[in-house]
Amino acid sequence: MFRYEKDSINGVELLKFDALSEKKNIVHCFTTRAGGVSGGGCESLNMSFKREENRKNVSENIKRVAEAAGVDFDSVTMVPQVHGGKVRVVTEEDRGKGVSRESFDEGYDAMVTNIKGVTLATIHGDCIPVFLYDEKACCIGMIHSGWRSTHARISRNAVVAMVENYGSKPEDIIAVIGPGICQNCFEASDDVYEAFAEEFGKEFTDDLSVCRPDLTRKGKWYISLPGIVYKTLIAAGVLPGNIIRSGVCTCCEENRDKYFSHRREHGKTGAMSGFIMLK
Ligand SMILES: [Zn+2]
Repeated sequence: MFRYEKDSINGVELLKFDALSEKKNIVHCFTTRAGGVSGGGCESLNMSFKREENRKNVSENIKRVAEAAGVDFDSVTMVPQVHGGKVRVVTEEDRGKGVSRESFDEGYDAMVTNIKGVTLATIHGDCIPVFLYDEKACCIGMIHSGWRSTHARISRNAVVAMVENYGSKPEDIIAVIGPGICQNCFEASDDVYEAFAEEFGKEFTDDLSVCRPDLTRKGKWYISLPGIVYKTLIAAGVLPGNIIRSGVCTCCEENRDKYFSHRREHGKTGAMSGFIMLK
């Protein structure tokens, strides 16, 4: 379903999904910890400007990933992520914003585009990455879905943006849910539980695959963000057979060497990035 590829120059290790790799017209990847220049808790391939003071390190890391992935550094475009539900429709004029150029004026947690040669890049430290591709309508999307954005149904919003702007049909869209925090690792309190219960109702509260109470501690819940993202994509009209779930957790102890995790490291760590570009 996916494989790790290591570049021979810097040892940059990238995860790639077969369902997207087999498509001729796109480039995509999800980064790991390996192959960068950052030190300390950000060792080594930290992709987030917010997580370390040395911007040069992050720029160098992004350059290395761009090279390994086969995209231009100047094409990498990042929005200021704000844990909301808004989607940016990225135009030619936005190319490079937030990385090699000035930032966007507003915050977003997803991007869509139909412009070739613009790399949509999101930042993840446990939050769920979702890659979207519609081969027929020739457009892509990249989503950062933490719990608030998942609650705001950002995956649906991104599908709708592709439908409205590019004439996509949801049934033509391939969606890949990449590495992010799993249900066992995402322990949440009543406030998060109640927010989801109010928004999603029984499909949340009565489904153990997305919401499980902690039987030993009152007021603690285990919530599956990838599971809710999946349901949201289905409700938006994406076909079950076109949704690929990685099942990879960034926070599980066994993946400590592979991925940064905001929760596992109590915030003192780096972050990964999801890239997607139309060729
Ligand atoms: Zn986990």
